[in-house]
Amino acid sequence: MKTLQAYRFALDPNDAQLAGLRRHAGAARFTFNWGLARVKAALSQRAAEETYGVTGGGLTPVPWTLPALRLAWNAAKREIAPWWDECSKEAFSAGLDQLARALKNFTDSRKGQRKGRRVGFPRFKKRGKARDSFRYTTGAYGPASDLYVKLPRIGRVKVHEPMGALTGRLADGRARLLGATVSRTAGRWFVSFTAEADRDVPAEPSRRQRAGGTVGVDLGVRHLAVLSTGEMVPNPKHYQRAERKLRRASRAYARSKPGSAGRRQCAAELARVHGRIANQRRDGLHKIATRLAKTHDVVVVEDLNVTGMVRNRRLAKAVATAGFAEIRRQLAYKTGWYGSALHVADRWYPSSKTCSGCGWRNPSLTLANRTFHCQSCRLVLDRDLNAAINLRILVAASTSETQNARGADRKTHSGGQVAAKREPGTARAGQTGSAAPQGTAA
Ligand SMILES: [Zn+2]
Repeated sequence: MKTLQAYRFALDPNDAQLAGLRRHAGAARFTFNWGLARVKAALSQRAAEETYGVTGGGLTPVPWTLPALRLAWNAAKREIAPWWDECSKEAFSAGLDQLARALKNFTDSRKGQRKGRRVGFPRFKKRGKARDSFRYTTGAYGPASDLYVKLPRIGRVKVHEPMGALTGRLADGRARLLGATVSRTAGRWFVSFTAEADRDVPAEPSRRQRAGGTVGVDLGVRHLAVLSTGEMVPNPKHYQRAERKLRRASRAYARSKPGSAGRRQCAAELARVHGRIANQRRDGLHKIATRLAKTHDVVVVEDLNVTGMVRNRRLAKAVATAGFAEIRRQLAYKTGWYGSALHVADRWYPSSKTCSGCGWRNPSLTLANRTFHCQSCRLVLDRDLNAAINLRILVAASTSETQNARGADRKTHSGGQVAAKREPGTARAGQTGSAAPQGTAA
């Protein structure tokens, strides 16, 4: 099976290379803005023509797609950017590609063909505000050795850690590079390679996975994840300290004066702390996703409205939610690789509010209630563990359906009926007993 895989490495550029990275990101931003200005001018020209009664082919064309934008850019570049040959042409192309995508997202969103938040008309990218990035898709880019990456027009740039995972696969033909995106996050440059890799995918779950059975996973703020087996996967080491720093940095940012130099500094610091936390968590999420996909035949997670939640102002929640999107993405492809299945519970399934022992529902449960107290069967257990167990029950009750959906990202639309059907007091032995001490300790 062919799979797409991303390999991301931090770069340690020297000063000259750093200038080159900035120049290329600047070139991408320049063409994006140039193209956007061109599109806007063409649109208003058209609007004027329409008032004069011009129609159809007589109207000024608007360069809306990548080929049209490229054509316009190549005709104009010598005049408007005489320095164009100081950068790889890929950088300019990347800017036009970003614009073409933004225009398409706008059109799709307006037509209702795009999920999620409404996408507005693209806006000009401001230096220092927009995310710096550019992309190579052709030419001699790629790892030069385990420790150096070749970036045309920039040079051989040192990477922060060896790229063995990627270079090994490239060397023996198990992977093929499709592109490289160079971007800056919180003052640090990264290269992210997209590679097409061959993988032997098992046709069915192994004995170990079958023995592991179905596992429910609740992703939280206090823990990285809580599993229906009772295991609480802790947040990465130093996470609490990083989180305190994050809170401090975000308070400092909020207090700084808009437009001041102090604010820019605070913003940079905030972004740096955010970047570090995201990295720490990404590592932890990778490990847990791999382990779950290898040791269980079905992994059940909740479907959360991620676009809605990332905009939540509560930082800890926002961080956890970003992690949720990440682990969901990782589980989707890793379960595919290892022959297990990912099951995504319906968004409206009340996994936190339902008693995993008897199905009683606590409609007034709030986020502050860390322990679930069942008023029907007297079960007391950690709120996240209760949610994880409910996720497992949801699928365990309909395994025949999941058996047919191996490797696919399935959704359940049972609306919580599975857990609600059981009678009070029918909790399986062991579940209540083993869970209670954790509940009382919380
Ligand atoms: Zn109960």
